[in-house]
Amino acid sequence: MYLVSISIIFGLIKLLKNGFLHKFRVARFPFYSNDSPSKRKVVYVYSPQYTETCDSLSKVPNRASMVHSLIEAYGLLQHMSVVKPRVATSEEMAKFHTDAYLEHLHKISQDGDNDDPQSGDFGLGYDCPVVEGIYDYAAAVGGATLTAAQCLLDKRGEVAINWAGGWHHAKKDEASGFCYVNDAVLGILKLREKYERVLYVDVDLHHGDGVEDAFSFTSKVMTVSLHKFSPGFFPGTGDLCDTGMGKGRWYAVNVPLDDGIKDDRYFHVFTSVMQEVQALFNPEAVVMQLGADTMAGDPMCSFNMTPVGVAQCLGHVLDWHLPTLLLGGGGYNLANTARCWTYLTGAVLRQTLASEIPDHEFFTEYGPDYSLEISPSCRPDRNETKQLDKNNAIRHV
Ligand SMILES: [Zn+2]
Repeated sequence: MYLVSISIIFGLIKLLKNGFLHKFRVARFPFYSNDSPSKRKVVYVYSPQYTETCDSLSKVPNRASMVHSLIEAYGLLQHMSVVKPRVATSEEMAKFHTDAYLEHLHKISQDGDNDDPQSGDFGLGYDCPVVEGIYDYAAAVGGATLTAAQCLLDKRGEVAINWAGGWHHAKKDEASGFCYVNDAVLGILKLREKYERVLYVDVDLHHGDGVEDAFSFTSKVMTVSLHKFSPGFFPGTGDLCDTGMGKGRWYAVNVPLDDGIKDDRYFHVFTSVMQEVQALFNPEAVVMQLGADTMAGDPMCSFNMTPVGVAQCLGHVLDWHLPTLLLGGGGYNLANTARCWTYLTGAVLRQTLASEIPDHEFFTEYGPDYSLEISPSCRPDRNETKQLDKNNAIRHV
């Protein structure tokens, strides 16, 4: 699938090029031009209350605290502007979500009613359990991503980080895959207030379906998602041939991958696609979702990545020197997720981090090695072993 993917993506991108290359303008941001490479202005959205609210998410309990505590323990906060997030208003969330969905979420949030007969219509239940205060959680996450995006608009930072955001599956009228609010969509819409073309890059294990759906009809937002694509694997979308619709045709790029992919191959695929995307779409701002369920050791047990490979991909995007909003996402091995996002924060700040996990509140979660590194497992790379089949398949395309 890997070779076929690249071949077809380049074919699609050529069509894209023919369609709108003439519309390109060269965008330059004066405040970057004299920057020393060692002084990237980074905003980090955080408050104790926000972290506590995010900790309550039943699928990733205490993850927000673990991530923040490790970032703090490595002394990274002193290199960033720490900005307190605000809470999103219902009007702000309604820029994407329907009033009916938000009103229902608000209603059931009062007492955590899991038995409301209407909830099923809004995707609430099995995968997205209803708990008391779920509306407040959604407003907090949405507000934090809007805060981060606003910091980019105000040039308070060139990079803004909300590791507790990145809930890319939520639809306008439906919760999905643990996502109650699509803060990534809200962040993109906020950046669109100033920037003509916004690029969304999603390296979570799962297809970024909610974000792709939100912008599938527009040429102003290009979405790129690299993900596992396999029969029965959630959410089941993100095939190569899904490229957007109407005016948005060719502005959605999907890179389906198989199990076992490791850093080197992933980086090769990523850069091959992103070089073309950047040259052809010429984005003015970027939102990148960095879900950590691709890590070796994640219970999803699919990809075989380490933070080093993801950091290389992130570095490729940051080298464009565009206003960039970084979001979290999946990541169900909580310690590995904290390792990954801490390592990425260090990479953004160009800080080298010691291998030994520093002593802090969650230190015991990092045993038995108490090391920042994640070692890939010895599982086979299915993208590699299928190459002969792929070569044959290419001849038939
Ligand atoms: Zn995921």
